[in-house]
Amino acid sequence: MDLLSPEVQREILKCVRCRTCLPVCPTFAELEVEMDSPRGRIALAKALSEGKISVTERLVGHLYCCLDCRACETACPSGVKYGEIIESARSYVEEHWKRPKLEQLLKTLFLKKIFPYPRRLEGLAWILRFYQKSGLQTLLRKSNLTRLLPGNLGELEKMTPVLSDRSSRSTLPSIIPPKGERRYRVALLLGCITDIGFASLNEATARVLSENGCEVLTVKEQKCCGALQVHNGESKTAREMAKYNLQVFESSGADYVIVNAAGCGAMLKEYGFLLGDDPQYGERARIFSSRVWDVNEFLVDVVQANGGLRGTLNPIPKRVAYHDACHLAHGQRVRKQPRKLLQLIPALELVELKESDWCCGSAGIYNITNYDMSMRLLDRKMDNVAKTRADILAAANPGCIIQLEVGIKKRGLAMKVMHPIELLDEAYYPDHPFS
Ligand code: SF4
Ligand code: SF4
Repeated sequence: MDLLSPEVQREILKCVRCRTCLPVCPTFAELEVEMDSPRGRIALAKALSEGKISVTERLVGHLYCCLDCRACETACPSGVKYGEIIESARSYVEEHWKRPKLEQLLKTLFLKKIFPYPRRLEGLAWILRFYQKSGLQTLLRKSNLTRLLPGNLGELEKMTPVLSDRSSRSTLPSIIPPKGERRYRVALLLGCITDIGFASLNEATARVLSENGCEVLTVKEQKCCGALQVHNGESKTAREMAKYNLQVFESSGADYVIVNAAGCGAMLKEYGFLLGDDPQYGERARIFSSRVWDVNEFLVDVVQANGGLRGTLNPIPKRVAYHDACHLAHGQRVRKQPRKLLQLIPALELVELKESDWCCGSAGIYNITNYDMSMRLLDRKMDNVAKTRADILAAANPGCIIQLEVGIKKRGLAMKVMHPIELLDEAYYPDHPFS
Protein backbone atom coordinates (compact mmCIF):
# COMPACT_ATOMS: atom_id res chain seq x y z
CA MET A 1 0.00 0.00 0.00
CA ASP A 2 3.05 2.23 -0.13
CA LEU A 3 2.86 4.77 -2.98
CA LEU A 4 6.56 4.19 -3.61
CA SER A 5 6.32 0.37 -3.63
CA PRO A 6 7.25 -1.40 -6.90
CA GLU A 7 3.67 -2.77 -7.23
CA VAL A 8 2.03 0.66 -7.11
CA GLN A 9 4.74 2.24 -9.27
CA ARG A 10 4.14 -0.47 -11.88
CA GLU A 11 0.42 0.38 -11.94
CA ILE A 12 1.17 4.10 -12.31
CA LEU A 13 3.49 3.44 -15.25
CA LYS A 14 0.89 1.22 -16.97
CA CYS A 15 -1.24 4.32 -17.63
CA VAL A 16 -0.64 5.41 -21.24
CA ARG A 17 -2.83 8.53 -20.83
CA CYS A 18 -5.24 7.36 -23.54
CA ARG A 19 -8.33 9.02 -21.92
CA THR A 20 -10.63 5.95 -22.40
CA CYS A 21 -11.52 6.17 -18.70
CA LEU A 22 -12.61 9.81 -18.75
CA PRO A 23 -16.21 9.40 -20.03
CA VAL A 24 -17.02 6.77 -17.39
CA CYS A 25 -15.73 8.81 -14.45
CA PRO A 26 -18.63 10.34 -12.47
CA THR A 27 -16.56 13.19 -11.00
CA PHE A 28 -15.10 14.12 -14.39
CA ALA A 29 -18.60 14.05 -15.89
CA GLU A 30 -19.78 16.51 -13.23
CA LEU A 31 -16.75 18.83 -13.06
CA GLU A 32 -14.98 18.46 -16.43
CA VAL A 33 -11.64 19.04 -14.72
CA GLU A 34 -8.69 16.85 -15.76
CA MET A 35 -7.42 16.63 -12.17
CA ASP A 36 -10.81 15.19 -11.19
CA SER A 37 -10.49 12.41 -13.74
CA PRO A 38 -8.71 9.05 -13.32
CA ARG A 39 -5.94 10.07 -15.72
CA GLY A 40 -5.42 13.35 -13.89
CA ARG A 41 -5.32 11.72 -10.47
CA ILE A 42 -2.83 9.10 -11.67
CA ALA A 43 -0.65 11.95 -12.95
CA LEU A 44 -0.91 13.60 -9.53
CA ALA A 45 0.04 10.36 -7.76
CA LYS A 46 3.03 9.99 -10.12
CA ALA A 47 4.23 13.54 -9.53
CA LEU A 48 3.78 13.05 -5.78
CA SER A 49 5.79 9.83 -5.77
CA GLU A 50 8.56 11.50 -7.77
CA GLY A 51 8.71 14.41 -5.34
CA LYS A 52 7.68 16.90 -8.06
CA ILE A 53 4.71 18.17 -6.05
CA SER A 54 3.96 18.26 -2.36
CA VAL A 55 0.76 17.64 -0.43
CA THR A 56 -1.43 20.75 -0.55
CA GLU A 57 -5.08 21.39 0.24
CA ARG A 58 -5.84 21.48 -3.49
CA LEU A 59 -4.17 18.13 -4.10
CA VAL A 60 -6.02 16.58 -1.15
CA GLY A 61 -9.27 17.94 -2.64
CA HIS A 62 -8.69 16.24 -6.01
CA LEU A 63 -7.65 12.93 -4.45
CA TYR A 64 -10.59 12.83 -2.05
CA CYS A 65 -13.12 14.00 -4.64
CA CYS A 66 -12.65 10.56 -6.20
CA LEU A 67 -15.39 8.10 -5.23
CA ASP A 68 -13.05 5.11 -5.47
CA CYS A 69 -15.88 3.63 -7.55
CA ARG A 70 -13.38 2.04 -9.95
CA ALA A 71 -15.49 2.51 -13.07
CA CYS A 72 -12.20 3.62 -14.63
CA GLU A 73 -10.69 0.18 -13.97
CA THR A 74 -13.47 -1.50 -15.93
CA ALA A 75 -12.92 0.89 -18.85
CA CYS A 76 -9.11 0.88 -18.90
CA PRO A 77 -7.66 -1.10 -21.84
CA SER A 78 -4.23 -1.21 -20.15
CA GLY A 79 -5.59 -2.89 -17.01
CA VAL A 80 -4.44 -0.16 -14.64
CA LYS A 81 -5.46 -1.03 -11.07
CA TYR A 82 -6.55 2.50 -10.24
CA GLY A 83 -7.93 1.53 -6.81
CA GLU A 84 -4.46 0.52 -5.64
CA ILE A 85 -3.03 3.85 -6.84
CA ILE A 86 -5.62 6.12 -5.25
CA GLU A 87 -5.66 4.22 -1.96
CA SER A 88 -1.84 4.33 -1.74
CA ALA A 89 -1.84 8.04 -2.63
CA ARG A 90 -4.38 8.75 0.13
CA SER A 91 -2.32 6.77 2.60
CA TYR A 92 0.68 8.93 1.63
CA VAL A 93 -1.42 12.07 2.09
CA GLU A 94 -2.49 11.05 5.60
CA GLU A 95 1.16 10.68 6.60
CA HIS A 96 2.18 14.06 5.17
CA TRP A 97 -0.87 16.26 5.72
CA LYS A 98 -2.21 17.93 8.84
CA ARG A 99 -5.99 18.14 8.74
CA PRO A 100 -7.95 20.73 10.74
CA LYS A 101 -8.10 19.60 14.38
CA LEU A 102 -11.83 18.75 14.58
CA GLU A 103 -11.77 16.88 11.27
CA GLN A 104 -8.72 14.87 12.37
CA LEU A 105 -10.30 14.15 15.73
CA LEU A 106 -13.50 12.79 14.16
CA LYS A 107 -11.57 10.75 11.60
CA THR A 108 -9.38 9.18 14.29
CA LEU A 109 -12.36 8.60 16.56
CA PHE A 110 -14.50 6.78 14.01
CA LEU A 111 -11.93 5.03 11.80
CA LYS A 112 -9.36 4.08 14.44
CA LYS A 113 -11.13 4.06 17.80
CA ILE A 114 -14.68 2.86 17.11
CA PHE A 115 -15.11 0.87 13.88
CA PRO A 116 -12.26 -1.60 14.53
CA TYR A 117 -13.88 -2.61 17.85
CA PRO A 118 -17.27 -4.37 17.61
CA ARG A 119 -18.21 -3.66 21.26
CA ARG A 120 -17.59 0.09 20.85
CA LEU A 121 -19.57 0.05 17.62
CA GLU A 122 -22.38 -1.70 19.44
CA GLY A 123 -22.24 1.07 22.07
CA LEU A 124 -22.58 3.70 19.33
CA ALA A 125 -25.49 1.75 17.83
CA TRP A 126 -27.17 1.72 21.27
CA ILE A 127 -26.97 5.53 21.46
CA LEU A 128 -28.34 5.91 17.92
CA ARG A 129 -31.17 3.48 18.60
CA PHE A 130 -32.08 5.42 21.74
CA TYR A 131 -32.05 8.65 19.71
CA GLN A 132 -34.31 7.13 17.04
CA LYS A 133 -36.69 5.19 19.29
CA SER A 134 -37.07 7.56 22.27
CA GLY A 135 -38.86 10.19 20.21
CA LEU A 136 -35.91 12.58 20.39
CA GLN A 137 -35.30 12.29 16.65
CA THR A 138 -38.97 12.97 15.83
CA LEU A 139 -38.99 15.93 18.20
CA LEU A 140 -35.85 17.47 16.68
CA ARG A 141 -37.11 16.94 13.16
CA LYS A 142 -40.63 18.25 13.79
CA SER A 143 -39.35 21.33 15.59
CA ASN A 144 -36.87 21.82 12.73
CA LEU A 145 -34.06 22.10 15.28
CA THR A 146 -31.82 19.95 13.05
CA ARG A 147 -31.34 23.02 10.81
CA LEU A 148 -29.32 24.58 13.65
CA LEU A 149 -26.69 21.85 13.35
CA PRO A 150 -23.40 23.13 11.86
CA GLY A 151 -22.41 22.57 8.21
CA ASN A 152 -24.23 19.76 6.44
CA LEU A 153 -25.02 17.93 9.68
CA GLY A 154 -28.70 18.84 9.46
CA GLU A 155 -28.94 17.27 5.99
CA LEU A 156 -26.85 14.30 7.07
CA GLU A 157 -29.09 13.70 10.07
CA LYS A 158 -32.00 13.19 7.67
CA MET A 159 -29.96 10.50 5.93
CA THR A 160 -29.37 8.41 9.06
CA PRO A 161 -30.88 5.00 8.32
CA VAL A 162 -33.26 3.48 10.82
CA LEU A 163 -31.04 0.98 12.62
CA SER A 164 -32.20 -2.56 13.27
CA ASP A 165 -33.39 -3.01 16.84
CA ARG A 166 -30.68 -5.64 17.27
CA SER A 167 -27.27 -6.53 15.93
CA SER A 168 -26.96 -9.74 13.92
CA ARG A 169 -23.98 -10.66 16.11
CA SER A 170 -26.39 -10.95 19.05
CA THR A 171 -29.21 -12.81 17.27
CA LEU A 172 -27.47 -15.27 14.98
CA PRO A 173 -26.24 -18.48 16.58
CA SER A 174 -22.52 -19.32 16.20
CA ILE A 175 -23.37 -22.25 13.95
CA ILE A 176 -26.42 -22.44 11.71
CA PRO A 177 -26.90 -26.00 10.49
CA PRO A 178 -27.51 -26.75 6.81
CA LYS A 179 -30.97 -27.74 5.69
CA GLY A 180 -30.59 -31.31 4.47
CA GLU A 181 -27.26 -32.81 3.60
CA ARG A 182 -24.27 -30.50 4.09
CA ARG A 183 -22.63 -29.25 0.88
CA TYR A 184 -20.34 -26.50 2.20
CA ARG A 185 -19.07 -25.04 5.43
CA VAL A 186 -18.99 -21.26 5.10
CA ALA A 187 -18.23 -18.31 7.34
CA LEU A 188 -20.43 -15.24 7.02
CA LEU A 189 -18.88 -11.78 7.22
CA LEU A 190 -21.16 -9.87 9.59
CA GLY A 191 -19.70 -6.46 8.69
CA CYS A 192 -19.86 -3.29 10.78
CA ILE A 193 -22.77 -1.18 9.45
CA THR A 194 -24.48 -4.33 8.17
CA ASP A 195 -24.25 -5.93 11.61
CA ILE A 196 -25.81 -3.04 13.54
CA GLY A 197 -28.02 -1.49 10.86
CA PHE A 198 -29.01 -4.39 8.59
CA ALA A 199 -29.33 -7.33 10.99
CA SER A 200 -32.23 -8.70 8.92
CA LEU A 201 -29.98 -8.82 5.83
CA ASN A 202 -27.42 -10.97 7.65
CA GLU A 203 -30.21 -13.16 8.99
CA ALA A 204 -31.70 -13.53 5.48
CA THR A 205 -28.27 -14.38 4.05
CA ALA A 206 -27.73 -17.07 6.68
CA ARG A 207 -31.18 -18.57 5.97
CA VAL A 208 -30.64 -18.67 2.19
CA LEU A 209 -27.20 -20.25 2.62
CA SER A 210 -28.56 -22.80 5.08
CA GLU A 211 -31.45 -23.58 2.71
CA ASN A 212 -28.81 -24.39 0.10
CA GLY A 213 -26.90 -26.90 2.18
CA CYS A 214 -24.38 -24.59 3.86
CA GLU A 215 -23.34 -24.92 7.44
CA VAL A 216 -22.99 -21.23 8.33
CA LEU A 217 -20.42 -20.13 10.90
CA THR A 218 -20.91 -16.60 12.22
CA VAL A 219 -17.41 -16.37 13.81
CA LYS A 220 -18.33 -13.83 16.49
CA GLU A 221 -14.71 -12.72 17.06
CA GLN A 222 -14.51 -11.15 13.57
CA LYS A 223 -14.35 -7.39 13.16
CA CYS A 224 -14.99 -4.79 10.44
CA CYS A 225 -13.10 -5.60 7.21
CA GLY A 226 -11.09 -2.35 7.05
CA ALA A 227 -12.56 -1.01 3.76
CA LEU A 228 -13.57 2.36 5.26
CA GLN A 229 -10.04 2.76 6.60
CA VAL A 230 -8.34 1.84 3.30
CA HIS A 231 -10.57 4.17 1.27
CA ASN A 232 -9.70 7.00 3.64
CA GLY A 233 -5.95 6.58 3.75
CA GLU A 234 -5.76 4.67 7.04
CA SER A 235 -4.08 1.60 5.61
CA LYS A 236 -1.96 0.95 8.71
CA THR A 237 -5.11 0.46 10.80
CA ALA A 238 -6.66 -1.59 7.99
CA ARG A 239 -3.62 -3.88 7.86
CA GLU A 240 -3.95 -4.68 11.55
CA MET A 241 -7.66 -5.37 11.10
CA ALA A 242 -6.93 -7.59 8.09
CA LYS A 243 -4.32 -9.62 10.01
CA TYR A 244 -6.76 -10.12 12.86
CA ASN A 245 -9.63 -11.19 10.58
CA LEU A 246 -7.33 -13.48 8.64
CA GLN A 247 -6.48 -15.38 11.81
CA VAL A 248 -10.04 -15.72 13.10
CA PHE A 249 -11.43 -16.87 9.75
CA GLU A 250 -8.52 -19.27 9.21
CA SER A 251 -9.13 -20.90 12.57
CA SER A 252 -12.89 -21.16 11.95
CA GLY A 253 -12.35 -24.11 9.62
CA ALA A 254 -14.70 -22.66 6.96
CA ASP A 255 -14.15 -23.58 3.30
CA TYR A 256 -15.28 -20.15 2.09
CA VAL A 257 -15.99 -16.69 3.47
CA ILE A 258 -19.27 -15.26 2.17
CA VAL A 259 -19.96 -11.53 1.99
CA ASN A 260 -23.23 -9.67 1.30
CA ALA A 261 -21.79 -6.13 1.15
CA ALA A 262 -20.02 -5.17 -2.08
CA GLY A 263 -17.42 -2.87 -0.48
CA CYS A 264 -16.50 -5.43 2.18
CA GLY A 265 -16.28 -8.25 -0.37
CA ALA A 266 -13.90 -6.24 -2.55
CA MET A 267 -11.80 -5.47 0.54
CA LEU A 268 -11.51 -9.11 1.67
CA LYS A 269 -10.59 -10.12 -1.87
CA GLU A 270 -7.80 -7.54 -1.72
CA TYR A 271 -6.26 -8.62 1.59
CA GLY A 272 -3.65 -10.32 -0.62
CA PHE A 273 -2.62 -6.90 -1.94
CA LEU A 274 -3.02 -5.09 1.38
CA LEU A 275 -0.71 -7.52 3.18
CA GLY A 276 1.25 -8.55 0.08
CA ASP A 277 4.60 -7.25 1.39
CA ASP A 278 4.23 -8.80 4.84
CA PRO A 279 6.58 -11.80 5.20
CA GLN A 280 4.35 -13.49 7.77
CA TYR A 281 0.91 -12.73 6.31
CA GLY A 282 1.42 -12.07 2.57
CA GLU A 283 0.99 -15.61 1.26
CA ARG A 284 -1.71 -16.47 3.80
CA ALA A 285 -3.63 -13.35 2.76
CA ARG A 286 -3.49 -14.33 -0.91
CA ILE A 287 -4.87 -17.79 -0.10
CA PHE A 288 -7.54 -16.27 2.15
CA SER A 289 -8.63 -13.81 -0.55
CA SER A 290 -9.05 -16.63 -3.08
CA ARG A 291 -11.64 -18.20 -0.73
CA VAL A 292 -13.81 -15.08 -0.45
CA TRP A 293 -17.09 -14.94 -2.41
CA ASP A 294 -19.79 -12.38 -2.77
CA VAL A 295 -23.02 -14.17 -1.80
CA ASN A 296 -24.65 -13.65 -5.25
CA GLU A 297 -21.51 -14.96 -6.94
CA PHE A 298 -21.31 -17.95 -4.58
CA LEU A 299 -24.93 -18.97 -5.08
CA VAL A 300 -24.67 -18.82 -8.88
CA ASP A 301 -21.07 -19.86 -9.64
CA VAL A 302 -20.64 -22.45 -6.89
CA VAL A 303 -24.03 -23.65 -5.64
CA GLN A 304 -26.05 -23.43 -8.84
CA ALA A 305 -23.17 -24.68 -10.97
CA ASN A 306 -22.83 -27.76 -8.74
CA GLY A 307 -26.28 -29.24 -8.55
CA GLY A 308 -28.41 -26.09 -8.48
CA LEU A 309 -30.23 -24.14 -5.81
CA ARG A 310 -32.31 -26.18 -3.40
CA GLY A 311 -35.83 -25.58 -2.14
CA THR A 312 -38.92 -23.95 -3.58
CA LEU A 313 -39.02 -20.32 -4.60
CA ASN A 314 -42.47 -18.78 -4.25
CA PRO A 315 -43.61 -16.15 -6.75
CA ILE A 316 -42.96 -12.45 -6.15
CA PRO A 317 -45.11 -10.63 -8.74
CA LYS A 318 -43.16 -7.37 -8.64
CA ARG A 319 -41.29 -5.17 -11.07
CA VAL A 320 -37.63 -5.01 -9.95
CA ALA A 321 -34.79 -2.79 -11.20
CA TYR A 322 -31.22 -3.69 -10.27
CA HIS A 323 -28.56 -1.11 -9.38
CA ASP A 324 -24.94 -2.32 -9.74
CA ALA A 325 -22.95 -1.42 -6.62
CA CYS A 326 -19.55 -0.12 -7.78
CA HIS A 327 -17.50 -2.48 -5.65
CA LEU A 328 -19.46 -5.42 -6.99
CA ALA A 329 -19.57 -4.49 -10.70
CA HIS A 330 -16.21 -2.75 -11.01
CA GLY A 331 -14.38 -3.95 -7.91
CA GLN A 332 -15.31 -7.65 -8.19
CA ARG A 333 -16.67 -7.91 -11.75
CA VAL A 334 -19.87 -9.47 -10.43
CA ARG A 335 -22.73 -8.31 -12.65
CA LYS A 336 -24.69 -11.20 -14.08
CA GLN A 337 -25.01 -13.29 -10.89
CA PRO A 338 -27.41 -11.03 -8.92
CA ARG A 339 -29.53 -10.63 -12.05
CA LYS A 340 -29.59 -14.43 -12.55
CA LEU A 341 -30.76 -14.95 -8.97
CA LEU A 342 -33.54 -12.41 -9.39
CA GLN A 343 -34.62 -14.08 -12.63
CA LEU A 344 -34.96 -17.39 -10.81
CA ILE A 345 -37.79 -15.97 -8.70
CA PRO A 346 -41.14 -16.86 -10.32
CA ALA A 347 -43.31 -13.93 -11.49
CA LEU A 348 -40.57 -11.38 -10.75
CA GLU A 349 -40.08 -8.99 -13.68
CA LEU A 350 -36.51 -7.68 -13.93
CA VAL A 351 -36.40 -4.32 -15.71
CA GLU A 352 -33.30 -2.56 -17.00
CA LEU A 353 -31.99 0.48 -15.18
CA LYS A 354 -30.10 2.92 -17.41
CA GLU A 355 -26.56 3.62 -16.17
CA SER A 356 -27.05 0.90 -13.56
CA ASP A 357 -23.29 0.85 -12.81
CA TRP A 358 -22.94 4.64 -12.44
CA CYS A 359 -22.08 5.43 -8.82
CA CYS A 360 -25.06 6.54 -6.67
CA GLY A 361 -22.78 8.80 -4.61
CA SER A 362 -22.75 6.69 -1.47
CA ALA A 363 -19.14 5.42 -1.72
CA GLY A 364 -18.46 4.51 1.92
CA ILE A 365 -18.45 7.79 3.85
CA TYR A 366 -18.26 9.94 0.69
CA ASN A 367 -21.84 11.14 1.23
CA ILE A 368 -20.64 12.58 4.54
CA THR A 369 -17.27 13.96 3.44
CA ASN A 370 -18.36 15.19 -0.04
CA TYR A 371 -22.04 15.83 0.50
CA ASP A 372 -22.70 18.15 -2.47
CA MET A 373 -21.10 15.91 -5.10
CA SER A 374 -22.76 12.88 -3.53
CA MET A 375 -26.20 14.52 -3.94
CA ARG A 376 -25.47 15.51 -7.56
CA LEU A 377 -24.73 11.86 -8.33
CA LEU A 378 -27.77 10.69 -6.43
CA ASP A 379 -29.92 13.04 -8.51
CA ARG A 380 -28.56 11.57 -11.73
CA LYS A 381 -29.18 8.05 -10.41
CA MET A 382 -32.73 8.88 -9.33
CA ASP A 383 -33.60 10.36 -12.76
CA ASN A 384 -32.93 6.90 -14.18
CA VAL A 385 -34.54 5.01 -11.30
CA ALA A 386 -37.78 6.99 -11.66
CA LYS A 387 -38.03 5.98 -15.33
CA THR A 388 -38.08 2.25 -14.48
CA ARG A 389 -41.43 2.53 -12.66
CA ALA A 390 -40.21 -0.42 -10.58
CA ASP A 391 -41.83 -1.55 -7.32
CA ILE A 392 -38.48 -2.58 -5.90
CA LEU A 393 -34.96 -1.33 -6.46
CA ALA A 394 -32.42 -4.07 -5.75
CA ALA A 395 -28.84 -3.27 -4.68
CA ALA A 396 -26.26 -5.60 -3.17
CA ASN A 397 -24.57 -3.16 -0.82
CA PRO A 398 -25.88 -1.60 2.41
CA GLY A 399 -24.18 1.76 1.64
CA CYS A 400 -26.04 1.99 -1.69
CA ILE A 401 -29.29 0.92 0.00
CA ILE A 402 -29.03 3.82 2.49
CA GLN A 403 -28.25 6.31 -0.28
CA LEU A 404 -30.97 5.06 -2.64
CA GLU A 405 -33.55 5.16 0.16
CA VAL A 406 -32.67 8.85 0.64
CA GLY A 407 -33.15 9.41 -3.11
CA ILE A 408 -36.51 7.63 -3.12
CA LYS A 409 -37.73 9.64 -0.14
CA LYS A 410 -36.60 12.92 -1.73
CA ARG A 411 -38.48 12.11 -4.95
CA GLY A 412 -41.53 10.77 -3.13
CA LEU A 413 -41.40 7.50 -5.10
CA ALA A 414 -43.43 4.49 -4.00
CA MET A 415 -40.50 2.13 -4.22
CA LYS A 416 -38.70 -0.14 -1.78
CA VAL A 417 -34.95 -0.83 -1.78
CA MET A 418 -33.89 -4.41 -1.10
CA HIS A 419 -30.81 -6.58 -1.33
CA PRO A 420 -31.22 -9.39 -3.94
CA ILE A 421 -30.67 -11.91 -1.13
CA GLU A 422 -33.58 -10.42 0.81
CA LEU A 423 -35.77 -10.97 -2.24
CA LEU A 424 -34.53 -14.55 -2.55
CA ASP A 425 -35.19 -15.06 1.16
CA GLU A 426 -38.70 -13.68 0.75
CA ALA A 427 -39.26 -16.11 -2.13
CA TYR A 428 -38.13 -19.00 0.08
CA TYR A 429 -39.95 -17.86 3.21
CA PRO A 430 -42.88 -15.58 2.34
CA ASP A 431 -43.90 -15.49 6.01
CA HIS A 432 -40.38 -14.79 7.34
CA PRO A 433 -40.57 -17.37 10.10
CA PHE A 434 -37.31 -16.30 11.76
CA SER A 435 -37.26 -12.51 11.71
S1 SF4 B 1 -7.92 4.29 -19.58
FE1 SF4 B 1 -6.21 3.46 -18.38
S2 SF4 B 1 -4.38 3.88 -19.56
FE2 SF4 B 1 -6.01 5.17 -20.41
S3 SF4 B 1 -5.82 7.14 -19.28
FE3 SF4 B 1 -7.30 5.91 -18.16
S4 SF4 B 1 -6.09 4.83 -16.62
FE4 SF4 B 1 -4.64 5.60 -18.15
S1 SF4 C 1 -12.61 5.64 -9.10
FE1 SF4 C 1 -14.49 6.51 -9.99
S2 SF4 C 1 -14.48 8.66 -9.38
FE2 SF4 C 1 -12.41 7.87 -9.03
S3 SF4 C 1 -11.30 8.34 -10.90
FE3 SF4 C 1 -12.10 6.26 -11.17
S4 SF4 C 1 -14.06 6.52 -12.20
FE4 SF4 C 1 -13.48 8.54 -11.38
